[in-house]
This record gives sequence, structure tokens and C-alpha cells, in this order.
Amino acid sequence: MVIHAHPDDESSKGSATVARYHDEGVYTILVCCTGGEEGDILNPAANSPGVRENIATIRHEELHNAAGVIGYDEVVHLGYRDSGMPDSPANHHPEAFANVPLEAVVSKLVAEIRRTRPQVIITYPDERNHYPHPDHIRVHDASLPAFNAAGDPSLYPDAGKPWQPSRLFYVLFSGGRILEMHEQFLLAGKQSPFDKRWLERAASWSAKKSIIRIDVTGYTHIRRKALLAHATQIDPQSPFWFGLPDDVIDKIAPYDEYELARYVDGTGKIIIVGDHSAKALSRSDATSGVGTAPTVDSAPGTGTTTGIDTVTGAGAISDTSDTVQDAAGTGSSAAILASVQNDLFG
Ligand SMILES: [Zn+2]
Repeated sequence: MVIHAHPDDESSKGSATVARYHDEGVYTILVCCTGGEEGDILNPAANSPGVRENIATIRHEELHNAAGVIGYDEVVHLGYRDSGMPDSPANHHPEAFANVPLEAVVSKLVAEIRRTRPQVIITYPDERNHYPHPDHIRVHDASLPAFNAAGDPSLYPDAGKPWQPSRLFYVLFSGGRILEMHEQFLLAGKQSPFDKRWLERAASWSAKKSIIRIDVTGYTHIRRKALLAHATQIDPQSPFWFGLPDDVIDKIAPYDEYELARYVDGTGKIIIVGDHSAKALSRSDATSGVGTAPTVDSAPGTGTTTGIDTVTGAGAISDTSDTVQDAAGTGSSAAILASVQNDLFG
């Protein structure tokens, strides 16, 4: 199950991975939280009054076309309204995704997880410092408590039979790929569309320890094809999306990148993975934090706790947990990181 904010996010992030797994027989589910009503029409050829008036319907169709290209077996619409870019008037719309109580969103996600019983959930990292789109932040903030609660029979009893997914990954806009693409633009004597801000963001991702790479050799063209299905949103002339030919992309970056954020260990505990370490989220801790939305602070700390995700909020995490494990050592986090390299199910 892959949780995205808007139509087109499913194409730009991780689409080749989904195509690969679909071909390998994995049942693939896209959860799209909003209708993308606030998306700008970025393809000049598709910009007409008729398109602007019917943007919600058109984006719905574009999403289904793209999902077909990628190979999603199922598309779930949560039906929320696009909250718009940061500081835009749409932020204040009462029906905007970012204004819906978090508990309601979590409840819907829990119901979908229990209905479809995925082993793996893919969602967004905390991007408050890099790409603070309110809907992307909402996806992150709702996915974590949904993952924690779905397997707990005491929570959301009306949302179906409990089911605990095994792993939760963050999809990255592949830092390694951006850095390598930037090099290729320069080598070809072209202007790179990746500015300093992009390069810093890409470098910060690449430096993370819990990054895994999924080989998508033979599937890199899927991203281009799926993006083009979003005819109103994607300019076919965009150097950002299409500035390098497929064969160059195939050569330099035939992979998608993810960060392992959560997994369930052999005893059923949910383990939170940081850059260098992991700590356990006990079942009772997981449940007590749902109503108050435990938030993960991904900013690296100092000293011995460098890189450990810390969870704040009522009763979210017990620092005295006796199951803290060291991902850099021989603990199970290191083992699972090794096993999921090039296989989300590994
Ligand atoms: Zn988006």
C-alpha cells in the first residue's frame, strides 16, 4: 500500500518500484488522499477555461490513467480536498485535507489497512524543513499512527479486523538520483534544473543510514510514461522531469530509494528506525499516542542519541524500554536493513 497526497505524486515518487512488484505478482494499492483540486495547470497546451473549470474530474481521470500505466491493482480515494501550496488561500478551506481532524484521517487509513491487509506501507518522510506542503505533511502525520493502530484490536473496533503491516518505508525523491542527474546535466553542457536547495536536500537524504535502494532496471521508463498521463500537471518539455534521455537515466540511476522507518520484530513489537539506532514502540505506547498524534522528530540530535527518531506526545515512547536495539550493530534493525536492500519484502 502506497499512500500519496495528490494525483501525480504516485507517478513522480516510486512508480517504477510499484511497476516491478506488480509484475512480480504483488497486489498493489494506491491510497490518494486528495483530489488535487489546487494543482496548477503546468502544461501550457492543456490550459483552457474548460480544463480549469473541470480540474477535479480531469485529475481523477489522469490519476486512473497513470495508475494503469504503473500497474496499481486498486486505487482508493480518501476524498479530501487539496489544501493548496503553503500560505495559499486554499489552506483555510474548511474541507481541506490539512484541516480535517487527524483522528478522522487515521481512522480511514486504519479501515483501508484492515480491509486490504498489506505487508508493506509506503508513505512520506517528515518534510517540514524541505517541502512543507500541508497535504504531504498530513500524509506523514496520519500514516504513522495508522500503522501503529491497525493491528490493535482495542483501537478503531468498527474499522474491521485488526491487521498489522510488517514494515513502513518513506519514499524519497531519490537523493542519489538527483545528485547523479545533476552531474549528467552539467556533463551534457545543459543547465541543471536542480538548484542549491535541491542539492542540499538530496545530500541530506543520501547521508541517511537507513536508506535502501530498489533495483528498477527495465522499469525506469514507467515514471516518464506515468507522469505524462497527468496531461494538465506535467509539461512534456520540462527539463526537471524529462531533461535527460531514458538511456542516461537507465545507466546512472536504475533504482528508487526508500528509508526504513518502522518494522515489526519477531515478538510483535513495532520498532522505530533512526539513522543509526532503533527503539521499540510498545503496544500500549502505540495506542496511547494515537489520539494526540505522536509526532516523529527527524532532526538529528547530538551525542549518543544522534539520529534516533524521538517521539513526542502523550505516552508515545518509553525511553526506559528494555528493547532498544542498535541498528549499526548486530541487532535486528541492522539485519532487517540488510535483508530489505533491494527487496521491500526481504
Ligand atoms: Zn503532492
